[in-house]
Amino acid sequence: MDSYDVVVIGAGFAGLVAARELALRGHAVVVLEARDRIGGRTWTDERLGRRLEMGGTWVHWLQPHVWSEITRYDLRVEASPVARTIRWIADGRAHETSPAEFNALISPAMDRLAADSRSWFPLPHEPLHRADLDRIDHLSVADYFAGLDLTPAEREVTTGVWAEHFNGPAAVSGLTQAMRWCAVASGNWQLLHQATSGHRLTDGTAALAGAIAADSDAELRLGSVVTSVAQDAGGATVTTADGSRLTARQVICTLPLNVLDTIDFRPALPAAKLAANAERTASQGLKTWIRVRGEITPFTGYAPDDHDLTFVHTEYTVDGDTLLVAFGTRAADLAPDDVEGVARALRAWREDLEVLGVAGHDWMSDAFSRETWPMQRPGQLTAHLAALQEPHGAVRFAGSDVATGWAGFIDGAIESGLRASRAARSALRGAGG
Ligand SMILES: Cc1cc2nc3c(=O)[nH]c(=O)nc-3n(C[C@H](O)[C@H](O)[C@H](O)COP(=O)(O)OP(=O)(O)OC[C@H]3O[C@@H](n4cnc5c(N)ncnc54)[C@H](O)[C@@H]3O)c2cc1C
Repeated sequence: MDSYDVVVIGAGFAGLVAARELALRGHAVVVLEARDRIGGRTWTDERLGRRLEMGGTWVHWLQPHVWSEITRYDLRVEASPVARTIRWIADGRAHETSPAEFNALISPAMDRLAADSRSWFPLPHEPLHRADLDRIDHLSVADYFAGLDLTPAEREVTTGVWAEHFNGPAAVSGLTQAMRWCAVASGNWQLLHQATSGHRLTDGTAALAGAIAADSDAELRLGSVVTSVAQDAGGATVTTADGSRLTARQVICTLPLNVLDTIDFRPALPAAKLAANAERTASQGLKTWIRVRGEITPFTGYAPDDHDLTFVHTEYTVDGDTLLVAFGTRAADLAPDDVEGVARALRAWREDLEVLGVAGHDWMSDAFSRETWPMQRPGQLTAHLAALQEPHGAVRFAGSDVATGWAGFIDGAIESGLRASRAARSALRGAGG
């Protein structure tokens, strides 16, 4: 049986960073990754005539951990095109305005949310800092906007904007998660929008994941699906689907929350971790790329969450055509590669566009994620975050789902990997390792 100081489960950003940190300090580390590639919920692939991101894309200098990695590996970012017009749907009709007019429409609700976020999350990287969060944590973003003095259009549009941010219906999207997003962007929602959709890695997220992996002596085993982690006095025995067994003194598990129950932990995981897994994340949507005929003026579209697509944005031109990126809140109702369905949903904004092809990955059906970007439901922050971050014997948990700051983002995955590696190293050193 192969023996390591640390087994890391998962080669997304959390796992790659945790493994690098430990390997660079001389520990024997192996990363077990179920898929045949690294990167997890980021995946740069050739589709529709160019390199596209199937998962995580946008990064920003306001996100400290990912920006530090971008500096470390001397990578570059480029700007996404700025929309010249905004098409938004309210009261069953499509409207067109300038970006400034659209921002004016959503600012009454967004300004209030941003101000409240500064009050409820005064230290954004300590999300549980206030002891009375249970006063608001039961609310969804839909509840919150329903309680504000807004016009029907302001309420419908702003609720739709947040459903897009959650990649899930607004009624199951936790208010505190929305506030955490605003708070890490210094309580400024315009800055939040820039940080979450303004800049992407020029050479793709694959370049960053590859750079981290290449900087590490950690052994990487692709196609290794971990099925069980059994702990004993010396650490743990990790078993994979092909029957391999490895021993380790510490284990770092980076599984997305919605698949945490796919590993048989012995002793069993505590009830609080399993409860969070059973409730599932608020995110349940899709991301799809759409190739339309001809070059079109950059625009952004927003729609309420009863539409199959809630957001669309012009991203690239390729060989005289345009590539749009779009998101919807229910992958169960629209598959990202359903050309007819996507074309139908796009027509809610524009009847004039001819769809030539669509491409996307169904993260909700993917056995190794079953979620897109992790977003909390009402109540999950106060009920589960602390418990999800707790170690379970020699097993430590990392991943964007359990991050403290930019939770849900690549940045949060990296932050959590740094924390888990430090805790594992302390434990190894405490045991004389
Ligand atoms: C469509 C989409 C769009 C997004 N957009 C953005 C964005 O623009 N900006 C941003 O910052 N973030 C974005 N995100 C979120 C971001 O990509 C994730 O939060 C982040 O990549 C998660 O990293 P992670 O390491 O925590 O988890 P993951 O990347 O999910 O890594 C976990 C790894 O564990 C592996 N695994 C699962 N089960 C097993 C098993 N049993 N055995 C072994 N390995 C296993 C998985 O295959 C995976 O590689 C997006 C995500 C999606 C899906």
